[in-house]
Amino acid sequence: MKILTSGTNLDAFLERLGCSEERLLMLDYDGTLSPYNIERHEAVPYPGIRDILAEALASADCRTVIVSGRSISDLLPLLGIERGIEIWGCHGWERLESDGDYTGPDLDADTSAGLEEAAEWAASEGLEKRLEIKVACVAIHWRGLGEKETAGIERDVCERWRAIADGMELELHRFNGGIELRPTGMNKGMVVNSLLSESGVAAAYLGDDMTDEDAFRAISGRGLGILVSPGLRETAADVWLTPPEELIWFLEKWIESCGKQNE
Ligand SMILES: [Mg+2]
Repeated sequence: MKILTSGTNLDAFLERLGCSEERLLMLDYDGTLSPYNIERHEAVPYPGIRDILAEALASADCRTVIVSGRSISDLLPLLGIERGIEIWGCHGWERLESDGDYTGPDLDADTSAGLEEAAEWAASEGLEKRLEIKVACVAIHWRGLGEKETAGIERDVCERWRAIADGMELELHRFNGGIELRPTGMNKGMVVNSLLSESGVAAAYLGDDMTDEDAFRAISGRGLGILVSPGLRETAADVWLTPPEELIWFLEKWIESCGKQNE
């Protein structure tokens, strides 16, 4: 564990959490709650995480939200929690509320056509197995490949997808183990801004990847940004935790602090 920004005091934050009227716990999934898995359909949470999430969800004074780049339909079976969880999927383009209400993306025809073209091109290049088609984005994964093969795929995909995105409301984003084409106008920072619109909420955002940096910047000064990663890198987060031990320690502290208000 390491404090990364001056003025951040984790003990004081947890103390304040116990006295707050409302608490908001925002969590990325891949690489944060689950270890990276070359087989992305097998990326299940670290042992103990499901129980902790169930406890957090049972706490009436804590809003627990998963903020993921994955599609919600892809995430739910991995998460193993089907009821009462709030999820913002596809970087915020879709939303599942804790009562089960679902809101999907509302993309214009050109954007949808651009995403379709990007997926068709990738499939025609023999990248089907590496292609992930989500409700509002397309991604190519190269996790597990060698350096040379990765560089070749990255170069070709960037060139073609950039050409598709040119003049459209689409943008390319790299993430750990791949690249993604997604519509402009939504990212994890915007999700945090939307969730934090009510003042007086004690909040934390936990994430691992470059797409979480938007969220760390959005929460800066209003809550705690926590980088969950085996190694430290340049980040806008306030605190660095290594998974799973320090992650589980923090989440247990969070739940303990939430419980204090009810005592
Ligand atoms: Mg992640």
